Amino acid sequence: MDMNTESIPNPSMGANALTAITKKASLPPYRLASRETHFAPTIVQIGAVEIGGPSFAVIAGPCSVESEDQLMKTAQCVKNSGACILRGGAFKPRSSPYSFQGLEEEGLRLLQKARELTQLPIVTEVMDSDDIALVESYADILQVGSRNSQNFSLLKKLGKAKKPVLLKRGLMTTIDEFLMSAEYVLASGNERVIMCERGIRTFETATRNTLDLSAIPILKERTHLPVIVDPSHAVGDYRYVAPLAKAALAVGADGLMVEVHHCPENALCDGDQSLTPGMFQTMMDELRSMASFIGRPM
Ligand code: PEP
Ligand code: MN
Repeated sequence: MDMNTESIPNPSMGANALTAITKKASLPPYRLASRETHFAPTIVQIGAVEIGGPSFAVIAGPCSVESEDQLMKTAQCVKNSGACILRGGAFKPRSSPYSFQGLEEEGLRLLQKARELTQLPIVTEVMDSDDIALVESYADILQVGSRNSQNFSLLKKLGKAKKPVLLKRGLMTTIDEFLMSAEYVLASGNERVIMCERGIRTFETATRNTLDLSAIPILKERTHLPVIVDPSHAVGDYRYVAPLAKAALAVGADGLMVEVHHCPENALCDGDQSLTPGMFQTMMDELRSMASFIGRPM
C-alpha cells in the first residue's frame, strides 16, 4: 500500500491500528525529507565540515571561476576570514547566451587547485546530467541552481551521486514544492541534501529577488535537512548582503552562501552583489559576535 493512501477506518480495528492509519494518511508527499519520518536533524558531513549541526557554516567565494589569479586570491581571503567551504561556478546558468558561460572543466581544475591551496572543500554547480560524473570527480558538493530546482530528471540522477547535493530553491517554487525537489534526490538514494533559500520572484523590483526569510523556520520545522541562506542572489546588491546574512542567522538557518570577489568591479558575473574581502571580513566579525550571543559556534 502506498504510504499516503487513505483508508476508511474500520471500527472493528484496535485503537493502535486506527492511529497508525491516520498517521500514514497525514504524511506529506515529501515523506523522506519530512520531520515526521525522521525527527533528528540530518548533519551533512564534508570532510571536517558539518552543515546542519550546532555550527553556523559559511560558504563563500566568487560567482564564477574566472582565472587562476582571481580564484586563488578570493579563496585565500575567504579562508582567512573563516569561511569553511569555497564556492565558484564553472558551468554558469546565464539568462543571456552571450554572457560569460563559465570556464567549464578548466574552472573545475582551478577549483581543485584552490582546494589544495586552502584545504577548503568546494561546491560548484552542475547544470546538465551529462556533466554529473565530471563535476563529481572534482567537487565536494554538487550545487543545483535555482533554474534547475524542478529539473526532476537531473534531481533523480543526483540521487545516484556519491557527493552531497546543495539544492537551491527555484525562483517560483513554494516551500512544499522545494521540499518535493529535495525528496526526488532522497528517494533516488542520496540522503545528503542541503537546502538553500536564495530569494524568490515577487512584484518587488528594489531587489533582484525577495529573500523569503519566513521559509527558514518553516523548512526547519518541516524537514530534518540542513537549511542555508544565499543573501547574495536574493538581493543582488552588496549593500544588503550583510544585514540579510545576520537575519538568516537570527531566524535559525544552518549557514550561508555568500559571493565574494577580490575585485568586484571587474567580475564577469554578479559583481554588483559581490562583497570585497574587506566587507566579507567585517560581516564575518559581526556574525561571529551574534553567533556567540545566541550560543552557536562558528
Ligand atoms: C549561483 O549560486 O551561482 C547561482 C547561479 O545561483 P542561483 O541558482 O540561486 O541563481
Ligand atoms: Mn552569482
